[in-house]
Amino acid sequence: MSTTTAGPNVTQRRLLTTPIPGPRSRALMARKARAVASGVATTMPVFATRAAGGIVVDVDGNHLVDLGSGIAVTTVGNSAPRVVEAVQEQVAAFTHTCFMVTPYEGYVAVAEALNRLTPGDHEKRTVLFNSGAEAVENAVKIARAHTGRQAVVVFDHAYHGRTNLTMAMTAKNVPYKHGFGPFAGEVYRAPLSYPFRDGGLDGETAALRAIDVIEKQVGADNLAAVVIEPIQGEGGFIEPAPGFLPRLAAWCRYHGVVFVADEVQTGFARTGDLFACDHEGVVPDLIVTAKGIAGGLPLSAVTGRAAIMDAAHAGGLGGTYGGNPLACAAALAAIETIEAEHLVTRAREIETLMLEGLRALQTRDPRVGEVRGRGAMLAVELVEAGTDRPDPALARAIAGAAHERGVIVLTCGTHGNVLRLLPPLSISDELLRDGLDVLEAAFAASAGGAR
Ligand SMILES: *Cc1c(COP(=O)(O)O)cnc(C)c1O
Repeated sequence: MSTTTAGPNVTQRRLLTTPIPGPRSRALMARKARAVASGVATTMPVFATRAAGGIVVDVDGNHLVDLGSGIAVTTVGNSAPRVVEAVQEQVAAFTHTCFMVTPYEGYVAVAEALNRLTPGDHEKRTVLFNSGAEAVENAVKIARAHTGRQAVVVFDHAYHGRTNLTMAMTAKNVPYKHGFGPFAGEVYRAPLSYPFRDGGLDGETAALRAIDVIEKQVGADNLAAVVIEPIQGEGGFIEPAPGFLPRLAAWCRYHGVVFVADEVQTGFARTGDLFACDHEGVVPDLIVTAKGIAGGLPLSAVTGRAAIMDAAHAGGLGGTYGGNPLACAAALAAIETIEAEHLVTRAREIETLMLEGLRALQTRDPRVGEVRGRGAMLAVELVEAGTDRPDPALARAIAGAAHERGVIVLTCGTHGNVLRLLPPLSISDELLRDGLDVLEAAFAASAGGAR
């Protein structure tokens, strides 16, 4: 049985009342083109008005099946009842004082919750920010303050954000970096474990390959932090081979390098564990969270070992809005929702249901190179039939065909050839099955030169 936490007034059924986009969305897209910087692209040309459970309703009344969660954000559901109630109560009490001016309990309670829930039972501290990128930057600041070293190692296909330091840490040029340099220095890139594309290299061997690059090109004595997504997000939902993360973490521990898990996309039940690091029992020194943390409100965090977190001098960390009271209220409600509604278990149920459909598709369609992922973070890597050559045009065609049929799906990957599925954990089995049927139809519609 599925737990559904749909808010009021959103029928949990896919329903198309107009072509996609409908006339109201088209009119709004025209206004957007005149008013919004064209650098801000949209996946679908439809404007949302309401969303809950597994449905996003657009301004023309179309009910779209949500397999994107606004990029892994509305993990507990859109307008999840506990989040709505908590935010309404908080907004009526006070909206902002600045935690650095007159603090409030909600921030401390979120820090306590993160210290309790993140991997490892050592003493921890937390600091809150607004966006994933901001939190990643601060994790680097903290690691540098603690180690007195400067270098940062990141990986092939990594995505860490769009600010200057995180652009340097992100691998892919277009669209994230192109024309936006110069980038921050002292960022070095190591090879990842990517089983589908590295000949199935085992995790231990892939880790030693990365460590060799790090030792030869950077040197542990210069290295403040290794920053890695335990399952890569924008880079293609790449799950490193078992043993890769534990081996890297052990090397970091031995050399006094701060091991930072960027769980911005993988965190908060998304992968069928509360955090993706839990899967192999990896305990990062610092863990960066955002996206799924607060049911859609902007919040991010760095949580980690007290001795490392407390290395930054007083006043060295902060920001005007970091840990905004509305976002903190939302985070506490989102965490309560994850626990009360057993959403970690729900993510595993979604994995079982979705993988069955996707694997069936894979056996029938040679353009499916690999089906992978965990929990409600699943991906289909598309290739030219029977080869391992990436097929980004096919990914675009299939996503486009799904959009036309009222299903929100996203693409990702260094080559843009990966369909990624990130449903909210509040979605019903019925909507998931419907979404799979639509994907199947989209594959059929994109068969043989039709693109
Ligand atoms: C989205 C993302 C970020 C950046 O988060 P923003 O809130 O967009 O700044 C960083 N790391 C990972 C792994 C992400 O998926």
